[in-house]
Amino acid sequence: MKKRLTRRAQEMIERTLPYFPELIGKTITVGYTRKHLGSATIIYDRGAVSRLIIRLKVRKLTYQTIGHELTHLVQGLSRGDRRTRSSLDAKHLPSGEKQCDIWTLARDPLFCDDPPTYLRLPRAMHERWADYAKEVRELCIVAIEKRNEFRLYIRWLEAEIRELAKTPLPEKSEPKQLILPFAT
Ligand SMILES: [Zn+2]
Repeated sequence: MKKRLTRRAQEMIERTLPYFPELIGKTITVGYTRKHLGSATIIYDRGAVSRLIIRLKVRKLTYQTIGHELTHLVQGLSRGDRRTRSSLDAKHLPSGEKQCDIWTLARDPLFCDDPPTYLRLPRAMHERWADYAKEVRELCIVAIEKRNEFRLYIRWLEAEIRELAKTPLPEKSEPKQLILPFAT
């Protein structure tokens, strides 16, 4: 992990961090991966969190990927410090890949620049993600609220997403791309 981050990757990460107040004051090591879009690792030392690492594929890097990996770190942190675990807390972020996608999309529209990887999306929605991103994000937010009293909130969400894909989209005059203020 000696290689420097590209300037673009660094700028994207810096722009992302303010959306993750849970990670304030923590050191995150960022490395590269070629194999996956990204990965996240938490290293424990005698039950306490000692290192946070994310690895990113820098080519075609998206905010969705950065957000996803940082959300994994938050998942890990909310699991613990394994010595003081309080998983019944409503703010506790559940572990799992689909959960990671849901909480990443819900966090901010910034992370909707690419479709999620694990949440099940109909193909048409995958292909026209920019047209659906806003509505899918809103459904994710509702699903998170539902989770408090409804265990099958992910199943509910994926059913709602399928329904959404069936509804014809209004013609949009905007270009079919989310406009994000990339620094150039
Ligand atoms: Zn993941």
